[in-house]
Amino acid sequence: MAWDFETDPEFEEKLAWMRTFVREQIMPLETLADHWRSPGGRTKFAEITAPMKDEVRRQGLWAAHLPPDMGGLGFGQVKLGLMHEILGATPYGPSIFGNNAPDSGNAELLAVGGTPEQQAQWMQPLLDGTMRSCFSMTEPGAGADPTLLSTTATRDGDEWVINGHKWFSSNASISDFLIVMVRTGDNETSAYRNYSMIIVPTKTPGVNILRDVPTMGEPDHRTGEPGGHAEILYENVRVPFDNIVGGEAGIGQGFALAQKRLGPGRIHHAMRWLGQSQRAFDLLCERALTRYTHGSILAEKQMVQDWIAESYAEMQAARLLTLQAAWKMDQLHAAGKHYSDARVEIGVIKFWGAKVLYNVIDRAIQIHGSLGYTTDLPLESMYRAARAARIYDGPDEVHKVTVARQILKRYRPSDPPREHVPTRRAAALEQFAEYLDGFAVNN
Ligand SMILES: Cc1cc2nc3c(=O)[nH]c(=O)nc-3n(C[C@H](O)[C@H](O)[C@H](O)COP(=O)(O)OP(=O)(O)OC[C@H]3O[C@@H](n4cnc5c(N)ncnc54)[C@H](O)[C@@H]3O)c2cc1C
Repeated sequence: MAWDFETDPEFEEKLAWMRTFVREQIMPLETLADHWRSPGGRTKFAEITAPMKDEVRRQGLWAAHLPPDMGGLGFGQVKLGLMHEILGATPYGPSIFGNNAPDSGNAELLAVGGTPEQQAQWMQPLLDGTMRSCFSMTEPGAGADPTLLSTTATRDGDEWVINGHKWFSSNASISDFLIVMVRTGDNETSAYRNYSMIIVPTKTPGVNILRDVPTMGEPDHRTGEPGGHAEILYENVRVPFDNIVGGEAGIGQGFALAQKRLGPGRIHHAMRWLGQSQRAFDLLCERALTRYTHGSILAEKQMVQDWIAESYAEMQAARLLTLQAAWKMDQLHAAGKHYSDARVEIGVIKFWGAKVLYNVIDRAIQIHGSLGYTTDLPLESMYRAARAARIYDGPDEVHKVTVARQILKRYRPSDPPREHVPTRRAAALEQFAEYLDGFAVNN
């Protein structure tokens, strides 16, 4: 078996191009964030970023997330991961490369689970960047346990009629369509087969977007700005029967399809978090070398050295864990297998990556003291955004439960404990009896 930690030189060149492009072209846009908040400002933002997107297309890096048989570039999860590490350093990176959440995940979902008609009508415009989408699953009354979701879709002739209350539907208020998780069945023995996903054009009558919920990440967010988390009432929303993802065969497949959507997304998230962590870490190290206090620069204080060593080790572990999970997914894809066989690896990077992100930004704020707490540095907004990573796409605890359950399947109860020394000693005496017969410990 080969162990290879190198990126192929051709792709390394692309990564080098991305690093420069992101740093020199995209990151400066962050400092003008207030300019992009009005409708006129958003038009300006689109004007400024259009040539950047063209350049990304020319480089052959646009919407790289799908395999070639599904209209993408076929990078696979390892290369995509390395790419997201660079793009994720700035919040604008993914959209300028045509693979921002939730559109990229929704395109992946339609690629693996949509009908050819759905792929042409909804997936292709996502890949072209001409439509925006939303994944509408969480409800005020149910999130981590999706079997409690109560939004229903009932069949009425050639239509589905949807009723329910969702929130945290990211980007709903700027979307062209929503993919809504709905209850379509009543099977008591297999609750997970009661749910399906339905494509709902956002302007359908009865889709009532109440507000974008202000959050810790964006307390002053205004409804209709990109990146909002909408609260939506679905009131007698009628869509064609064919809008169920996967067509008739997709009825009851909502959760199975959601798993396909979320696996690659978690790799991309974890690598984006590393891009953010690295940015905070760079600031931490530079400050350590710059700031003089209590008789030396901070870099000479052992406590600060501890932060640097801990942060580096945590980030390196997160990176290797994530790339190994991505590698495993690529192997599974090549073998025609389901990503669920990588659920331990994916679960681990979700909670570990989120924790590392939070820890590193926290230490970077601490070393900057009062400056770290100000909006003169990006650390405070990174910190607020990082807190959500422990909640979205499933909270830490749920991933830990998954990981622990899967790991426990590798074990059996053991009483006495497998390593119980007196029991093992008795067995060893029997095993080596022919040598030890008549031999006492203090012979
Ligand atoms: C920034 C952001 C963006 C989001 N975007 C979307 C989106 O686009 N679409 C969408 O549908 N949803 C989205 N969500 C919602 C997100 O997926 C849910 O918040 C998440 O699944 C948790 O559900 P909940 O908030 O209802 O928490 P609950 O289900 O109420 O859980 C609350 C807490 O209980 C604990 N807990 C839960 N289960 C267990 C367990 N088994 N063992 C131990 N402890 C447990 C955890 O600590 C958890 O945080 C987003 C959330 C955030 C913060």
